[in-house]
Amino acid sequence: ALERDELQLLYQPKISLENNTIIGFEALLRWHNTDYGVVNPQVFIPMAEQTGMIKPIGLWVMKTACQQIKRFQEWTQSELSISINLSLIQLRDTSIVKNMAAILQETQIPPHLIEVEITESVAFQDEPFIMEQLQKIKELGISIAIDDFGTGYSSFSRLRTFPIDLIKIDSEFVRAISSNLHKDQAIIRSIIQLAKNLDLKVLAEGVETEEQLQFLKKEGCDFIQGFLFYAPLPAKSIEELLNYT
Ligand code: C2E
Ligand code: MG
Ligand code: MG
Repeated sequence: ALERDELQLLYQPKISLENNTIIGFEALLRWHNTDYGVVNPQVFIPMAEQTGMIKPIGLWVMKTACQQIKRFQEWTQSELSISINLSLIQLRDTSIVKNMAAILQETQIPPHLIEVEITESVAFQDEPFIMEQLQKIKELGISIAIDDFGTGYSSFSRLRTFPIDLIKIDSEFVRAISSNLHKDQAIIRSIIQLAKNLDLKVLAEGVETEEQLQFLKKEGCDFIQGFLFYAPLPAKSIEELLNYT
């Protein structure tokens, strides 16, 4: 896929609820295969991890996403951030910090505008090496987000000790807002409060309805992503979009 140039990154806008503006994008990987059509990351990333191909693929993702955000920044003359998903296998790779430093050097993007997303289950692994890697990434000035928050084994002690900047509330909880069940709403409200009390930013994923948006706004959620605003889009569409906003 890499050799045939079949990989593509889509970019999903992240919206600030303070003023409804785009603050940046999450890079989401797709594989366009001639036989299978568009293959989703949940299907081929586990295979790439088993075969070791995740290393060159992950490097391609980081480079492509950073070069692209640089173009978006030049285009709009504004600070736009880019979020990149990393899996456990990628974080175990000893060359990842060096690779990131090289990309920062090459693109000259202010490091705080790059964010790595690590799922809760990965971040809170009881693996000292992962913690070390995250700390080194953080030392480069890169931001760290906990993805799919609330679905795994959420550890309060690790929330305290990990160098985290942002919590991403899993779409499972966002969907539940519409259920009008007291418990579901209480959970999402508590996650937002938890983030605030820890001085972390909080983003809700998978926002699809106006009702969910209003609830999140009322509860003080900082950012959202979701089909209600934008689906993940190719770079070309983002450029058109940035022209109008
Ligand atoms: P994620 O990081 O939690 O990404 C959110 C997923 O929700 C994306 O699926 C996105 O397309 C989808 N989504 C966004 N807004 C909505 C919405 O309003 N409603 C619904 N129903 N879905 C929404 P996608 O693109 O299929 O990615 C799936 C997962 O694959 C990601 O979950 C991430 O963990 C992983 N992934 C994606 N790109 C990469 C990558 O470059 N590297 C690695 N290691 N993992 C990646
Ligand atoms: Mg993510
Ligand atoms: Mg997620």
